[in-house]
Amino acid sequence: MKIGIDLGGSHIAVGIIEKNKLQYKIEEDLNKESNLLEKMKELITKTLMENQGAKEDIEKIGIACPGTISNGNVIKAGNLELYHFPLVEELKKEFTNIEITLRNDGKCAAMAEKHYGSLKKAKDCIFMNIGTGIGGAVFLDGKLLEPKKYSGFEIGHMVIEKKGRQCTCGKKGCFETYGSIRVLKQEVKKELHIEKDITGKELLNIMLEENENLDKVVQEYIRNLAIGIGNLIDIFEPEMISIGGSFSYYNELLLPRLITKLQEKNMTFNEEGLPVITTAELQNDAGILGAIL
Ligand SMILES: [Zn+2]
Repeated sequence: MKIGIDLGGSHIAVGIIEKNKLQYKIEEDLNKESNLLEKMKELITKTLMENQGAKEDIEKIGIACPGTISNGNVIKAGNLELYHFPLVEELKKEFTNIEITLRNDGKCAAMAEKHYGSLKKAKDCIFMNIGTGIGGAVFLDGKLLEPKKYSGFEIGHMVIEKKGRQCTCGKKGCFETYGSIRVLKQEVKKELHIEKDITGKELLNIMLEENENLDKVVQEYIRNLAIGIGNLIDIFEPEMISIGGSFSYYNELLLPRLITKLQEKNMTFNEEGLPVITTAELQNDAGILGAIL
């Protein structure tokens, strides 16, 4: 059996993938006190027990982890408070002789979308995760482009405004400080003088109301998003772009406007033959599914 693990900022999910399908999944919340490594071992053991399996039955363990990953090490995962942690090596102490792989969670989700989801039929394509930030992965001729050193394709950190907003990465004017859903929410709240935190559902309802000023906020958001995506189209010439993350939740409202914006004059270099833009199909299970690919 193949075991996929998805590490999130606040949860961990472990699943069994067989015949290209997720057959079993357990999920648990993580808190500040959780020992991540122990939790992983515990949940793998629980998974084996509940499925009448033994350690020897495991063919492969794949882990999807947020942050910067390099050769089995977590270089930087701020949300998990992991820095320069040899995750694969540590796990190998318990699961000797089993293939263990570790990859950035956004790349895992992209792999899953490419193999089983929205990008199945495309050869040259881009997967974008738009939520708290913006992550991405690029496939050319069906293959994931992977730089040697880090995870690469930090599309959320390409600068679209020279003297722009301060990004958490240290740079100014990064794409994700304009195009993430987090920022859209911030801007909507600012426009309507909302102080308290609002849920995704509340944000959607607010945006569905007719309000001229709010419409300007959404228009500006779409324009910024289209600038970033236009850059990606010019560089990679994808035939298809799939968008995942919390963006999918606002899909009906945002996607048609984004497509219309990209079709405008001077938004892309070649203008002809724009890619099909769609949304992700696999949602929450994409990380686990992609982890074992
Ligand atoms: Zn940045």
